[in-house]
Amino acid sequence: MSRPVPKPGILDIAPYVAGKSGAGLSGRVFKLSANETPFGPSPKAIEVYKTAASHLEDYPEGSSRVLREAIGRKFGLDPDRIICGAGSDEILNFLAHVYLGPGDEAIHTAHGFLVYPIATMSNGATNVIVPETDFTANVDVILKAVTPRTKLVWLANPNNPTGTYLPFDEVKRLRNGLPSHVLLVVDAAYSDYVSRNDYESGIELVATTDNTVMTRTFSKIYGLASLRIGWMYGPEHIVDAVNRIRGPFNVSTPAMLAAVAALEDTEHYEMSRTHNERWRTLLTEDIGKLGLKVTPSVGNFILIHFPLDKGKTSDEADAFLTQRGLILRALKNYKLPNSLRMTIGTEEANRLVVEALTEFMGT
Ligand SMILES: *Cc1c(COP(=O)(O)O)cnc(C)c1O
Repeated sequence: MSRPVPKPGILDIAPYVAGKSGAGLSGRVFKLSANETPFGPSPKAIEVYKTAASHLEDYPEGSSRVLREAIGRKFGLDPDRIICGAGSDEILNFLAHVYLGPGDEAIHTAHGFLVYPIATMSNGATNVIVPETDFTANVDVILKAVTPRTKLVWLANPNNPTGTYLPFDEVKRLRNGLPSHVLLVVDAAYSDYVSRNDYESGIELVATTDNTVMTRTFSKIYGLASLRIGWMYGPEHIVDAVNRIRGPFNVSTPAMLAAVAALEDTEHYEMSRTHNERWRTLLTEDIGKLGLKVTPSVGNFILIHFPLDKGKTSDEADAFLTQRGLILRALKNYKLPNSLRMTIGTEEANRLVVEALTEFMGT
């Protein structure tokens, strides 16, 4: 008997495996595996969300107008060139759906975000993975991988899970080196945490080219991951095409309103940023002193590399930390089998990780 068969490519996709949550462990658990903020969202966002609960029977305003306008005000952008989505994941999938099909190729780098291959392959296109240099995207290597079939390049800047970034000059060099019909997707999910003056989130590149989009999210510094809300800024023709396939009510009203309130709470935002920056430096130094390599990060997480010696491996470290309720992210599916990614947590969580790693490396 026959049965429904998925389209070509679908069963080649490796299912996305989320970080451990620590559920099931007894005692206190610090989840440092999903790059969530340790502070939660702005209290104002929670308040607005609760108020929105009294109107759950109404469909949302379909274009997320209030949120697009708030983003426009905040970043000085034309709201008509913004699209909101159920997480930036949804927008990445929209872009793949609009621009990729069988026979097309999309490029991402070796330790790129695992949503990219899913988006590419679910549209029947071919996923092309290129090596990185020092855990960082290499513009020349990306450009060398371009073929007549290339339609799209995914670039997380900063990248997850490595924490590295490309300076604006390099992103521009990438854009200028790509054929003009190739869409460059700059995924700036962690841009809020970057404090380097040679960094540009993508806004300027989108504004000055016809073939680049930037995506952002409320899941990280704004602490609204559970509400699923992200956005894209792009050229008019891309916004028009994506809006044609976007579900007419893809963002819920409570999510939209909470995001507006979160955006307006600059105090909460600055507090999170300052805490993150302080601990990113401290953790990089303290963990580095234990003889572990830490890749310099500009995000809200750090990538820790472990030796291969028995007793000191990343698997053993992961087990050791997990026993103590410290849940980091193992990265085998990111082709980083000897590394763990630690999301920067509360002061208490950060200190506990340093203590545990000190003990682990000393034993
Ligand atoms: C967390 C993350 C996102 C955000 O995803 P949402 O769907 O908006 O929650 C996007 N890109 C990268 C690289 C990320 O790590």
